[in-house]
Amino acid sequence: MGKEIDIKVKAKFVSKISKGFPLIVKESIANLNDLQEEGSLVRLVDENNRFLAKGYYGIQNKGYGWILTRRENEKIDQSFFNGKIQAAYEFRKSLFEDGETTAFRLFNGEGDGIGGLIIDHYDGHYVISWYSKGIYSFKDYIIKALQETVEVKSIYQKKRFDTKGQYVDEDDFVMGEQPEFPLLVKENGVHFAVYLNDGAMVGVFLDQRDVRRKIRDEYAKGKTVLNMFSYTGAFSVFAALGGAVKTTSVDLANRSLPKTIEQFSVNGIDPEAHNIVVMDVFKYFKYAVKKALKFEMVILDPPSFAKSKKFTFSAGKDYTNLLKDTISITEDNGVIIASTNCSTFDMKKFKNFIDVAFKEMNGKYEIMEQFSLPADFKTIPEYKEGNYLKVVFIKKIKG
Ligand code: SAH
Repeated sequence: MGKEIDIKVKAKFVSKISKGFPLIVKESIANLNDLQEEGSLVRLVDENNRFLAKGYYGIQNKGYGWILTRRENEKIDQSFFNGKIQAAYEFRKSLFEDGETTAFRLFNGEGDGIGGLIIDHYDGHYVISWYSKGIYSFKDYIIKALQETVEVKSIYQKKRFDTKGQYVDEDDFVMGEQPEFPLLVKENGVHFAVYLNDGAMVGVFLDQRDVRRKIRDEYAKGKTVLNMFSYTGAFSVFAALGGAVKTTSVDLANRSLPKTIEQFSVNGIDPEAHNIVVMDVFKYFKYAVKKALKFEMVILDPPSFAKSKKFTFSAGKDYTNLLKDTISITEDNGVIIASTNCSTFDMKKFKNFIDVAFKEMNGKYEIMEQFSLPADFKTIPEYKEGNYLKVVFIKKIKG
């Protein structure tokens, strides 16, 4: 481990850091030039040289590093990492013991005390996401800590540290016994086929577990379901297993067709009984209106930002319009499940988008439920941005 560098925190940022904010933002640092090598440990002090916290230097889109401890005497060494991973494991112990769910998050960045580090668990196989060169420099410590805490069949990694926080394509496999892909994992008894070695996305987004279960257990029965931005069709699979009459999955990526067929198949559902459409959702809205198609449940799970040939979608700007298009193809008393992972606005603003959309369509609605991240995606109140997921179940009421 490199030597510690003293970082002077500008006066106006001191109180926020003292109150528990875990991110080291560039603007807060008075002596930027002293930061040379990512992965250096830093000691944050105020302008009177009073100790505030210790952390590491690592550049990602969010900031310049993360705070690791507020105790001046705590050493950042192997036992520090062991302690963090062990605590994260204890927190998810019930999931590790739950035979019906074998895919979940073991370590969620700053929520578990180390920003920039994510570890997901897939039936004994682990995927580590490194969000900066800085955190990657602690790789050996972190992998050792993981191996000392849990039984590791294999480890894969995703390096997400070029300047845009994008995935850098390199060899994903780190160590252990490589499984055959697809690897079949379970979530509340439902199978997912995942590929840990195939780019940034492995085939399922683990943060929607509670939402998927709710759809299957309480909302899908007897319904016609439209799943927009469907990716591998995870919501469609849960809806079908919950007794949906028919699901329609729409995604513009060509891969979504074979991937969705695969997810249906590994759950014993006949893909032929469902609709899988490779199309731009904005084109599909027009098609549905023209054909007078209406659905009893519509799931909307767009990326925060997407560009297709004809349309650009930015959740912060365009969600209201997306909802308006959706309202017009939803049956009366139907349910719209609106989801966003966009961290630039909060639940209050999201609900405002919903309200505006219904008002502009002269429609009435009722909010049935709402979700944020599941428990294994641990977050801390001092860093609200970390709790990015917002999902609202909205009933369209006959006006
Ligand atoms: N709902 C999915 C995750 C969605 S990820 C799930 O539960 O797993 C976002 C998806 O949106 C990607 O698969 C991407 O291909 C798709 N996408 C982005 N822009 C789109 C557009 N304009 N029309 C259709 N799909 C789009």
